[in-house]
Amino acid sequence: MTQTLTAALAEAIGAERVTSDPDALAARRYDQWAVSHLRDWRGQPLPTAGCVVRPRSTAEVQKVVALANAAGTAVIPFGLGSGVCGGISPTPDAILLDLSEFNGVRSIDETNLLASFDAGKNGLEAEEAVAARGLTIGHWPQSIAISSVGGWVSTRASGQFSTAYGNIEDIVYSLEVVLPNGELVTLGKAPRAAAGPDLRHLVMGAEGTMGVITGVTLALRRKPERQALSAFYAPSMEAGFEAQRQIVQADWRPPVMRQYDAREVRRMFRDYARDDQSLLIMVHEGPAARVEVELAEVASIAQAAGLSPADPAACAGWLERRNHVPAWREMFERGFVADTVEISGGWTTIGRIYDDAVTSLNGVPGVINASAHSSHVYRTGLNLYFSFAAALQDTAQMEPTYFECWRRVMEATARHGGGVAHHHGAGRLRKPYLAWDLGEGGVELLRTLKRAVDPRGIMNPGNLIPDA
Ligand SMILES: Cc1cc2nc3c(=O)[nH]c(=O)nc-3n(C[C@H](O)[C@H](O)[C@H](O)COP(=O)(O)OP(=O)(O)OC[C@H]3O[C@@H](n4cnc5c(N)ncnc54)[C@H](O)[C@@H]3O)c2cc1C
Repeated sequence: MTQTLTAALAEAIGAERVTSDPDALAARRYDQWAVSHLRDWRGQPLPTAGCVVRPRSTAEVQKVVALANAAGTAVIPFGLGSGVCGGISPTPDAILLDLSEFNGVRSIDETNLLASFDAGKNGLEAEEAVAARGLTIGHWPQSIAISSVGGWVSTRASGQFSTAYGNIEDIVYSLEVVLPNGELVTLGKAPRAAAGPDLRHLVMGAEGTMGVITGVTLALRRKPERQALSAFYAPSMEAGFEAQRQIVQADWRPPVMRQYDAREVRRMFRDYARDDQSLLIMVHEGPAARVEVELAEVASIAQAAGLSPADPAACAGWLERRNHVPAWREMFERGFVADTVEISGGWTTIGRIYDDAVTSLNGVPGVINASAHSSHVYRTGLNLYFSFAAALQDTAQMEPTYFECWRRVMEATARHGGGVAHHHGAGRLRKPYLAWDLGEGGVELLRTLKRAVDPRGIMNPGNLIPDA
């Protein structure tokens, strides 16, 4: 990072908005990727950015990006740093563009049900702003209190209520984006368009590689009149999947449908564990009359599919505890390395992916837990969220064991035709596996788009897009 560029940045947006203070750099040296935290904990020095820049307006972002582009200097957008795939991995020659202080509510439109936010707005604060008007975004990632609306879009995030309310791509109405040359575009302007390809998707999931999202307009919902909970035991994962398939294909839409395998039931729902049964919990929301009918119909489908009623208090307990954020360091101190891996698959393959991945994980030396639950359901299939944990005396084995566990879940998923990335994005972690979802042709198309949009390659280099 040249002094000339740092001085130009300070001149453009104010000296107090540009810093090379070591503490500020260190605080933004990683996201929540387990491997960065593991390396840090083992004393491996992690590089930091050349400077941290904290813009507070779109015009300031434009100035920063234009200056960086002219100098050929990398820009790494930083929302709230809760990403779990290594999307933020700064280098001393890069600008860390911290958007967390660019965090206003731009507008809330109660008639058209739209709310606009600056991209760095904390997700929970955004939800609270609309909730005060009796509205909801309906997007509840577990990380809602530690992630930004711009980060949600950049990683193609999913919330816990997605089965009825959709994933972030279903909620985004329009996006304001600063392109790598500093120019501004607004993508999306009406409830629907047939005006060429939907360019919002160029930045949704781009993880900072195609530009900087500066403003996000989301489509809202009115808060539901009624919420009700239900729970069922399933004799096997397959039986539970089949019940879930029948429920969504009959067009019932509980916003939350989560099915835990017996191992996770024992760990997370200890008071409700029954034999080796799996547990399906559901949250039903909407107009009171519809919720009543849904409860009855879903119960009838579930029981006909061989499930038996469980105490809905199991679901209430999950609702209360659901946003707990674990700390990596505590786990390493106790001799464990662990992570979660989310994938998706069609109804005819998901059972095989589950069996194959769990068996394969159990074959990794040191693994003491391999389990899964489903949490996002579609007419065409569902996701699985695998958890693995390995107990290792030798801390040098933690990183290779981690990557081996990941490789096995990716391979088991791809072997049966599943999608290797459901909602955490790809970052540096899944970059080697991206072609398994996009195909080699798709990856080449992505590289071509990247070269066209960002010819100098300044936006978050090394992230997401596999090298040629
Ligand atoms: C405990 C925990 C639970 C989680 N639960 C969920 C969950 O339920 N669902 C889910 O989907 N995810 C979940 N995540 C992952 C994470 O919270 C999401 O990926 C989130 O969307 C990231 O938002 P952020 O603001 O923290 O982004 P960051 O981590 O700051 O950035 C993520 C990526 O997006 C880029 N980026 C960020 N902001 C912008 C911008 N304005 N313009 C361009 N690029 C940008 C960054 O460069 C980076 O590559 C969880 C993470 C943790 C730690």
